[in-house]
Amino acid sequence: MVDEPEPAPVLCVRCGRSRAEATPVEALTWVMTHDERGRSLLCPACARTHVRDIEGKLPDEYW
Ligand SMILES: [Zn+2]
Repeated sequence: MVDEPEPAPVLCVRCGRSRAEATPVEALTWVMTHDERGRSLLCPACARTHVRDIEGKLPDEYW
């Protein structure tokens, strides 16, 4: 197996919103998270709602 680069996710994993439709400034506030399945993306609204969940789940080495 070749180690392929993972494509960056562009949809919020919780609400399915597309980051491509966000304004450039707003896109910067989207949050990339890491879990056992790889990278996932959260829009600002979902990130705020679930910030404690995210922080509790993330391994320290990603921060
Ligand atoms: Zn969302």
